[in-house]
Amino acid sequence: AVEVIALHKTYGTQPVLRGLDMTVRAGEVVALLGRSGSGKSTLLRCINHLESWDSGLVRVGGRSLGYDARGRVLPARAVARERADIGVGMVFQHFNLFAHLTALENVAGPLRWVHGMPAAQAAARAHELLARVGLSHRAHALPRHLSGGQQQRVAIARALAPSPTVLLLDEPTSALDPELVEEVLDVIRRLAVEERLTMIISTHQLRFAREVADRIVFLSDGVVTEEGRAEDVLTRPRHPLTARFLRVMG
Ligand code: ATP
Ligand code: MG
Repeated sequence: AVEVIALHKTYGTQPVLRGLDMTVRAGEVVALLGRSGSGKSTLLRCINHLESWDSGLVRVGGRSLGYDARGRVLPARAVARERADIGVGMVFQHFNLFAHLTALENVAGPLRWVHGMPAAQAAARAHELLARVGLSHRAHALPRHLSGGQQQRVAIARALAPSPTVLLLDEPTSALDPELVEEVLDVIRRLAVEERLTMIISTHQLRFAREVADRIVFLSDGVVTEEGRAEDVLTRPRHPLTARFLRVMG
């Protein structure tokens, strides 16, 4: 479902992704691990075309997002529509909800603006998604009146509303108080197990990665240094950098 081939990206003079290759199959759940600064967020942002890159290919569902048939970069509005079309959803560490909109409007709004869904249908879909993340009773609350865990569940509902084929989650629980982590992980676990949604999740929670991910991809300095079944990578890392990371995290 997702192919990343020889991806290079530099911020100024600093290389951040240095020829990164990664493939994620449909229905697969991949946990992206790696030290702070290894390029996890940058990679996810490239897959969703929130960042441009210097060279390499990113394909989702066989399509190269963000370029026209002649390889020219598309304008941002066209990319937003294309992203919706191809079906990439993203959940951010800091939720990124619209502060002045209710939970319901946060979910329904993009369905109208980006996907052109009629208002009544968008509202119905938003109610359905809020129910799925256990937040029907908070539909009319503003983000600042919700707990962090509830805000992140609204963000997940928003990302799921257009039925994406791929969901990217960038450290979805690391901004949460410890007692709120579990309710968000529960929702993600259900998506993985019950819906077999293709997901790429960057996380520092090794136990969660082991539990939910089919495969772990380990990044160091902008390349994949190790990947494999979660169980294997976490218990028998082959690369010294993975082993060191696991010791520090352990
Ligand atoms: P963390 O675990 O802390 O979230 P990460 O693996 O997600 O780290 P990235 O956020 O992808 O790492 O950052 C990779 C490198 O790129 C870092 O050195 C970071 O400082 C740099 N970087 C990220 N975003 C920008 C930016 N907008 N401008 C300049 N440098 C950036
Ligand atoms: Mg990051």
